[in-house]
Amino acid sequence: MNEHYPIKRGWRPIPESDRRYKLFEEVYSYAKSIDVIPDNVEKPLLFEVTSSWNCGFCSCQKRSRRIYPCICLNECLRSIGDDKMRNLIVHEFAHACVPEEVHGPKWYAVANDIGKKWGYIADDKETDEEIIKLMQQNKKRYEVYCQCSHEYFMYRNIFVREPQKFTCPMCKTPLKSRVVQYKGGEKDDE
Ligand SMILES: [Zn+2]
Ligand SMILES: [Zn+2]
Repeated sequence: MNEHYPIKRGWRPIPESDRRYKLFEEVYSYAKSIDVIPDNVEKPLLFEVTSSWNCGFCSCQKRSRRIYPCICLNECLRSIGDDKMRNLIVHEFAHACVPEEVHGPKWYAVANDIGKKWGYIADDKETDEEIIKLMQQNKKRYEVYCQCSHEYFMYRNIFVREPQKFTCPMCKTPLKSRVVQYKGGEKDDE
């Protein structure tokens, strides 16, 4: 059954002994008890990921009418308290329940139904200062450069990911890229 889930290389499964998994179980069983999980939605798998941009995300795959969700949590937020972590999980889990619309009215309704038990009010953007700060510190910057040492600084994009596909207009050699500010894990998964 695991092969139906859209698991990507570099995602690390969060073990059941991890407090994030326990928070997820808490959210999941409460959502079940109030009957907001559609029948065709399988139980999500939980992963830790490295990402410069997302606090977390939910990736769903549809296989013969069933939905297989993966909830991914940014490793840079590992230290946030239980309440904030649970809110994040509620937010992402609501995406699993409403995969057809992102941050639409149905998503808000489900996220609020689940979250109100813990005082979470659904929001489509992050407002917590601690989380914003952690995400800011985590953002990596890259340098794209070439033989003639023209340098360009940028966040992760196509030039950073596949620099060899491009050549410098001056020296005509393939570009290269490297991280110039590095405060995350080993890999990026966007
Ligand atoms: Zn969202
Ligand atoms: Zn050059």
